[in-house]
Amino acid sequence: MSAASIASCFSKIFIRKMHVTYLPMSWRSGDNYCYLLTDEPSNKSWLIDPAYPSDIMDFLTKKNKTEVTGIVNTHHHYDHAGGNGKLLSSIYKGVPVIGGKDCPYVSYIPSDEEVIQLGKNIEITAYHTPCHTQDSICYYAKDKKTGEKCVFTGDTLFTCGCGRFFEGTADQMIKALQKIADLSSRNYHVSGSRIHGFRCEICKDCVRRFE
Ligand SMILES: [Zn+2]
Repeated sequence: MSAASIASCFSKIFIRKMHVTYLPMSWRSGDNYCYLLTDEPSNKSWLIDPAYPSDIMDFLTKKNKTEVTGIVNTHHHYDHAGGNGKLLSSIYKGVPVIGGKDCPYVSYIPSDEEVIQLGKNIEITAYHTPCHTQDSICYYAKDKKTGEKCVFTGDTLFTCGCGRFFEGTADQMIKALQKIADLSSRNYHVSGSRIHGFRCEICKDCVRRFE
């Protein structure tokens, strides 16, 4: 292998990725995660599925230096959206809650395929994926400057399976998964709600581990 090809490989491995901090939640085996998605130039963030504020309050008040401009839910289940009220009444008063119709304290429900801007460079497209719940939404984020992408799938898609059909049909799940599959040609990273849904083997260099 030539020196140029080796240099090319390393540039691919160590390239700076979209800034996602993943924060472990205490639900059951502790494999539920919430995510802080940050647009670095503006220092603005979305806090996605912060189910258990007590688990992350220390991080949010002492270590997070970004402005949280949205509390975001992939669906209404309490192990995803159960922390909305506590956060709104404590450290994030007035911050919009973005999610589906059944999410507690929701103040903004994005339309299917609606594009929302986060800070300067990140564009997020909301994809309605009803089945696990009727209000399930996947959020596909793209950094316009770097071209980096990821999708937050909640309980619709894990690494080795999909969520249970609590409120939908197999036909709806097929359609939901097809929407996500259609994104695959765009070379994105998957961030499901549980660690086995988070593609660490792919994106370990693009997330900052919660400490
Ligand atoms: Zn769920």
